[in-house]
Amino acid sequence: MSELRSAVEALQAETLAELPDARIEEDFAELQRVLDLLEVERLRRLAEIERRCLYQREGHLSAASWLSDRFHVAWGVARSSTRVARALEHMPATQRALGAGDVSMSAARMLVDAREPDPRSFARSEETLVEAARIHSISGLRQVASVWRQQVESTRRESGQDVLHARRRLSASLTFQGMVRVDGDLDPESGEALLTALRAVMDADARVGKDRRARTHAQRRVDALHQICRSWLDAGDRPSVAGERPHVTVTVPAHAVADPGAGVAELDHVGPVPAEVARRIACDASLMRVVMAPPSQPLDVGRRTPVVPPAIRRAVIARDRTCRFPGCDRPHTWCDAHHVTHWADGGHTALSNLVLLCRRHHRLVHRPGGFQVAMVDGRAVFERPGGGRLEDRAPS
Ligand SMILES: [Zn+2]
Ligand SMILES: [Zn+2]
Repeated sequence: MSELRSAVEALQAETLAELPDARIEEDFAELQRVLDLLEVERLRRLAEIERRCLYQREGHLSAASWLSDRFHVAWGVARSSTRVARALEHMPATQRALGAGDVSMSAARMLVDAREPDPRSFARSEETLVEAARIHSISGLRQVASVWRQQVESTRRESGQDVLHARRRLSASLTFQGMVRVDGDLDPESGEALLTALRAVMDADARVGKDRRARTHAQRRVDALHQICRSWLDAGDRPSVAGERPHVTVTVPAHAVADPGAGVAELDHVGPVPAEVARRIACDASLMRVVMAPPSQPLDVGRRTPVVPPAIRRAVIARDRTCRFPGCDRPHTWCDAHHVTHWADGGHTALSNLVLLCRRHHRLVHRPGGFQVAMVDGRAVFERPGGGRLEDRAPS
């Protein structure tokens, strides 16, 4: 080390004004190269100091703090020095090129920056990047490094997407009383589709409905999801499963439809539901006649037929246009055709006995002791649970 010091003292002794131009230039070039070499050696020792935790002897918590305090180095510079020193330890090709004077310290710092986000990818590409540092100017190297980083990042993003995609899951399990618990993690694309669809239905619902405060946000989300599922099931182009279009199926003993107080109806997936629910669903559904012979042997299975044939439904839609419940104008796509007198009670499936009701109002009129609807002179008349007519705003 004393030789280094004597070399510096020799330089200090030189009177520059007396030196020829060429000599000044030569000396400068040599100093610039040696400076980089010295910097590499300084950083190599700094890394060693850090590895041996020598800074702890004076109570410092990091090599950077030791460097800053002991040598009055600006904190940012000290931190950058330790970062570069640490990185160079894992950059053998860069170290070799630096040692041979093939690349400058500035170029090496740029490589350190490039390495930071993904050291493993850097290790695979180090030779190529060092070669680029050899032949390109600093700005050329910056460009090469930034293209390389973008590529690495986009590959990482893709594999990140794969990881997220692989983590997708959805469980829908039956809990009690036919409630279904839904829980899951959607990958970004599926999640986006779900949120977009929910938002669209909830917004449309908020525009036509005036009872937003009556439901919590969570409840509105369920109603929206129900709407989305129903729309899909009701759509004409859905795929068929086992030769049939999927649909909500309710199995009802004949006497339970006729008498809401009797028997238990079952939905295919969630099981028993109150007869009131069965009556509401059966009000506008596809029905399949299953005659059971004891002990529980299907004796006769009829074709699935819609309770309200398409032609009659079209006529009801043409007449009512929207939900007919006073004050509601949810579109017909959200509506069921409600039998004013239930078909199970002998009501006809005819225009004169049908009224378009959105699913929420359909629920209200099927609730025991709830709103009543009657047909008076071909018009639906609604009454409150306690009596008293609701004002009818239906198109005349
Ligand atoms: Zn109904
Ligand atoms: Zn309605």
